[in-house]
Amino acid sequence: MAQDAGELLFTNGVIHSVDALDSTHSALLVRDGRIAAVGSDAEVRAAASPGAQAVDLGGRTMTPGFIDAHNHMSNAAFEPISVDCSTPPLETLGEVLAAIEAHCRELPDGQWVRGFGFNSWQTREHRNPTRGELDEVAPRNPFFLQESNVHTGYANSLALAAVGIDACTPDPWGGGIERDERGELTGTLFEAATNLLQTASWGAYAAQDWERAIGLIERKAREYLALGITGIGDACVLEDSARLYRMTDEAGRLPLTVQQLQGGDHFFAAPDPRRADFLERVREGDTRLLRGGTMKVFVDRAYPDGPGVHLHHDGCTTHAGVNFYSPREVRELAVQAAELDVDLAIHGMGNCAVDSVSDAYEAVRRATGDDRVLRLEHAFLAEPAQGRRLASLGVDLVSNPGLIHHDGMAFDGWRRGDAGIKVLPLRSMIDAGVRVSFASDHPCGTTSPAEIMWSAVTREFYLGGTVDPEEAVTAREALRAYTINPAHASSRAAEGSLEPGKRANLAVLDRDPLAVPASEIRGLVVEQTYVDGALVHALAE
Ligand SMILES: [Zn+2]
Repeated sequence: MAQDAGELLFTNGVIHSVDALDSTHSALLVRDGRIAAVGSDAEVRAAASPGAQAVDLGGRTMTPGFIDAHNHMSNAAFEPISVDCSTPPLETLGEVLAAIEAHCRELPDGQWVRGFGFNSWQTREHRNPTRGELDEVAPRNPFFLQESNVHTGYANSLALAAVGIDACTPDPWGGGIERDERGELTGTLFEAATNLLQTASWGAYAAQDWERAIGLIERKAREYLALGITGIGDACVLEDSARLYRMTDEAGRLPLTVQQLQGGDHFFAAPDPRRADFLERVREGDTRLLRGGTMKVFVDRAYPDGPGVHLHHDGCTTHAGVNFYSPREVRELAVQAAELDVDLAIHGMGNCAVDSVSDAYEAVRRATGDDRVLRLEHAFLAEPAQGRRLASLGVDLVSNPGLIHHDGMAFDGWRRGDAGIKVLPLRSMIDAGVRVSFASDHPCGTTSPAEIMWSAVTREFYLGGTVDPEEAVTAREALRAYTINPAHASSRAAEGSLEPGKRANLAVLDRDPLAVPASEIRGLVVEQTYVDGALVHALAE
């Protein structure tokens, strides 16, 4: 990726700066990787040197590069060397098992194998494979299949044995090991019970060939660049994935900015901000592309019966769902971290978890008295009134509206008919003054910012109908939620808008998301992407 130290003069475009005034210009000048000027063609030409390289945008739209503030890039990076169990296109459990068998047949005995893309609900049988079925198709290799929502996984006998899980193993903190009526392992693991399998399989892939792992991170990053994404937040970085990011950056092969949200020893494990090794990982110095400084905490679980929610019926409140932590534990963990100058990103899916996170952040603001970035991830099920409190605490909400399209009805089921709870109440949150960022949560959903913005604007469910359509946002709000707002949530002040002095991270689109009908936003094509003024993606002619 050559760093062009010269000037780039873009003219004849529709350039949405996403500045405080939402101004639109026709020209933009890049100098030494930074934005030097924006304005009319005449103004910006006057500011350019005679030797500036001219780019005629031909009426195309330019926006700041998108920032996907919450995805799982390191988790997804090994997809090209794992078994693709994606449903769809695979339809039946038989097809999924055949794919696993074909993949494992080629491998040496004992080598770990991972499967991805699987959604048990989307199979024709509406179920997951059993341990016995996995043993048949992967008889010589420890095999771990991750459900696409990452909260559940399925293991064969060799994999369970490799991490020391047997029929006598008690359910671990924050997780469940499923057993049949005879007490035998079914191979299904929930939440934190997937931790050891996740870590062992990921670690084995990395340890086989770190050089290959660097290449796979770079490859995944290039997929993001092709979608106009110039910055991401990896929402659960562990010791090994932090090492991989560092190696990739040092090799000069990290082509976009990465914010690392640091987890504990395993994906769903409790991080301990007082531990020296954790603090060392969080405090490792930032580079031009790689940034640390933030701790990730999961408050509520998806299994066994959905996120932590408070349901209000006939004047009574009941609790449903299971949380990893009590409100007091969340508060103590958050204050401890903040007092050690660690930033926070806390996952809270249901309205009960949102309250826990708000309580914790109120305590953090009181303890530190500063305006550090405090992030709430997800809030899939929330009450509009919760927005006022989040706004008054200055919390950044990082939301995943792309999931409405496929999972909107699952979210709807989780609120159990409580009309006071909304599915991703983004309209209410923005109206209450909350700074809302959009993010993919990939591999839980699509990575495409165009699709995700479309989903937030239309709220269409893939089988027809809409999900809480009154909570739709405008295209302009969606654009802010993919650029300037996540720049704040990711503590990247030099990104997110097209203003002089900022990094020239740019996306060139074939059409204007603010001018096309809502239905067309989904199909917007990113023709070019620039990072620090260097062209890093160009659509083939
Ligand atoms: Zn996530």
